Amino acid sequence: MINLEVLKIALAGLLHDIGKFSERAEREIPANYIASNQSLYQPEYKGRYTHQHSLHTAYFLDENYKYFPEELTRHSSDAVSLINLASKHHKPDSPEQLIISEADHLSSGIERKEFEETDTYTRSAREIPLMTILEDISITNKWKENKPENFNFVYPVQMLSPNSIFPIKKDEYGIPKYKELYEKFITLFRNLPHKSCPKLWFEHLDSLLLLCCSSIPSATVGITEKGFKEIVSDISLYDHGRLTAAFATALYIYHSQTNSMDKNSIKDRESEKFIIIEGNLYGIQDFIFSEGGSTVKNAAKLLRGRSFYVSLLSELAADYILEQIGLPITSIVTNAAGKFKIIAPNTEETTNAIKMAKEKINQWLIEKFYGEVSIGIVYIKASYNDFIQQNGVSELLKKIGKASEIQKFDKINILKNGGSVTNYLNDFSSEFGVCPVCNRRAARGRNKIKEDNLCDICYDHVKIGKELVHENRIAITTKDANLKEKLRVPVFDKYQLAFVTGELSELAKEGKVIHFWDINKLWQSDKYSEEKIYSFKLINGYVPRFIEEMDTDEIIEKLTYGEKKEDKIQILETLREDTILSFHHIAKFALEKSDDGYVGVDALGVFKADIDNLGTIFLKGLRPEKRTFSRYTTLSRHLNLFFTLHIPYLCRTKFKQIYTIFAGGDDLFLLGPWTDMISFAKRLSEDFNRYTCENSEITLSAGIYITKPDTPVLTMAEQSEKALEYAKASGKNRITIFNVPVRWNDLEYIENIRNQLNRWLEEQLITRSLIYKLNEILEMVRQERIIRQQQISDPRKLNALTWRSKLYYHVIRNVGKGKTKEDRINIATEILENLVKWLEMPEEAFRIPLWQTIYMKRRA
Ligand SMILES: [Zn+2]
Repeated sequence: MINLEVLKIALAGLLHDIGKFSERAEREIPANYIASNQSLYQPEYKGRYTHQHSLHTAYFLDENYKYFPEELTRHSSDAVSLINLASKHHKPDSPEQLIISEADHLSSGIERKEFEETDTYTRSAREIPLMTILEDISITNKWKENKPENFNFVYPVQMLSPNSIFPIKKDEYGIPKYKELYEKFITLFRNLPHKSCPKLWFEHLDSLLLLCCSSIPSATVGITEKGFKEIVSDISLYDHGRLTAAFATALYIYHSQTNSMDKNSIKDRESEKFIIIEGNLYGIQDFIFSEGGSTVKNAAKLLRGRSFYVSLLSELAADYILEQIGLPITSIVTNAAGKFKIIAPNTEETTNAIKMAKEKINQWLIEKFYGEVSIGIVYIKASYNDFIQQNGVSELLKKIGKASEIQKFDKINILKNGGSVTNYLNDFSSEFGVCPVCNRRAARGRNKIKEDNLCDICYDHVKIGKELVHENRIAITTKDANLKEKLRVPVFDKYQLAFVTGELSELAKEGKVIHFWDINKLWQSDKYSEEKIYSFKLINGYVPRFIEEMDTDEIIEKLTYGEKKEDKIQILETLREDTILSFHHIAKFALEKSDDGYVGVDALGVFKADIDNLGTIFLKGLRPEKRTFSRYTTLSRHLNLFFTLHIPYLCRTKFKQIYTIFAGGDDLFLLGPWTDMISFAKRLSEDFNRYTCENSEITLSAGIYITKPDTPVLTMAEQSEKALEYAKASGKNRITIFNVPVRWNDLEYIENIRNQLNRWLEEQLITRSLIYKLNEILEMVRQERIIRQQQISDPRKLNALTWRSKLYYHVIRNVGKGKTKEDRINIATEILENLVKWLEMPEEAFRIPLWQTIYMKRRA
């Protein structure tokens, strides 16, 4: 359990620089307030008060004291009052205040000399934009000189939204709207829910700060031998505050538990006071895609439930550890796609807590999932100086990465620690046997869904999958909380989950609400228009639904095309009732209506992508002097947001039939109508390019596997992974479509070819049969290439060398039917010229537009 003193320290860390926000928003401080408080919070330099923002922080707190939970503003002495903890970070005079100050320095990651904030630099802090570290990443050591004028992209001062996470060109920055943003912030701050439950309130505040302060630069000036100068400001106020909170809490607990709450001990930067914990959830893919006999018909719903459930396992595993150590959520410094890092105090209590959490969690996972899913938890120790010294952070990351690697290959040991499954068989009843969904656990009478009886866990997954569509908020409660609907199996035998519409105020007051999350709102719209902010978790993807606007004759005709008459009514009923589109329905969207019925192939495109060279980017992407921990966490947050915020938003607004199976960390797994998937891929690469400031050193690779909707999901996963690996093996920065790896840049050219082929077909300049012939000729081109490369001639294949004459023959026969002889010659010449060029494209890239055309024009 977290105690209130710890929470207060975290809060002070989180808000210590909030004055920079109000200062830039030109919040006026009354003269008498300045007069009586200046000497308290602001240090002096050559007879002048500096660090104006500390006073603003104090004023913000004073002005808003009554909006804080009472428990956090109470204090036994001035040394530990919230206002002094937060505002005296440049002038600390108690050990606790010194802790915030140390954490502030540590979070900045530099041996920061105290400098005067005067007007000797040219621009005011208000005008200096937040730049992006994404622009400054190079894995080939080609960094530009580190001057503000060398960088072109900045973030607009705005609330976090699917649009505002994209950097803009510097000249589009204009006058930042600090005032407007600050007003929104204050309104939302005063309205933060769950004030009677400080821990929940604190989590909502953390999200509010992410929303309002992630586009605001923290430090804007630095000091050189020559004086003050503007710096490349690439850490947001949010990231800086949050990391300060994490370091401060760890230090506070460390000095409390080691009885060393004194200034000298706090200033000791040699001792290993910190522990960095890394958690990894293993077996995510196997778990999501594992299947039994009857999953195909429920595949979409079950996938949704399961992929959400793994996100939940990872969130709650991190929470379990926090809870055991007594840390707030701000101590989780990175968290993406089943992997998280926590900053904790290096004490015996902590290491015991970690050991306990690891055992409990894995024991539960073994009991419920028979080892299919497990969690690796490792940690390393670190001192203040380890974080600060040149390359220190890279070394720490390498060290913990190595520890995780060992743990991963030592999975058996994780399982051993957890215990064994003793009464497996006792669980089963002769009446219901084994669960038809997982084929593993015992089915139960109480878990009937349609004609099947499921096991408790699968029943939970299907339920979650269904509820997720309707509700935006979930509460994580203690397992004894009085809820209307409960999970059959509380997670880790500790957490219950409820989909809620209200705030569960009563339960929260009883201390039974552990988290209260908004899981949909943020990516559902480009503006956060709510009057209240709930802590949000981007752990929910987008799922195509049968929504009202689809209930038209045209779409229904498409969705039921090719089905037997008697099935159509049933399909419609299920659609309207279930609302989640099944894979069969999604595939149907690939069909196109033509004059005589539908054309095309109702197939799915399964899409898998991830960022190239990710490990190198994290370890060596930034220039050595910039490799600070806060840049590491900032980078992780940025990359994660692209996948967890932008992708679901893009699907929801532009690609409504694309299902996000998972999107987070650095990778992406989607499924949609195969035709949409190819256009999506092009859009994704453009957006990613824009997101990373057109930095050619941060690239993606992807693969699309096209298949029929009744293919087992496991096959889909494996085949799309293969396509992705092929793109990587062919040089990265590529996408594999129809087994052809092409550069992203080539997609446009390929699209042009397809359009050209379509035009010729539509204008009846070429025939369908020529298109099929071209496919045979393309195969000959491939054979020819092999023959030439290997310089061995299998006589039976030498025929391939004749593809040109074959092409000539078929084009002349099939082109420009019904036209005059002269026209035919002209048309044939143009078409031949183009076809030869296309057929000779590297890697048989012509296969992509050709096969697209063949599949799209086929009668359905
Ligand atoms: Zn089951």
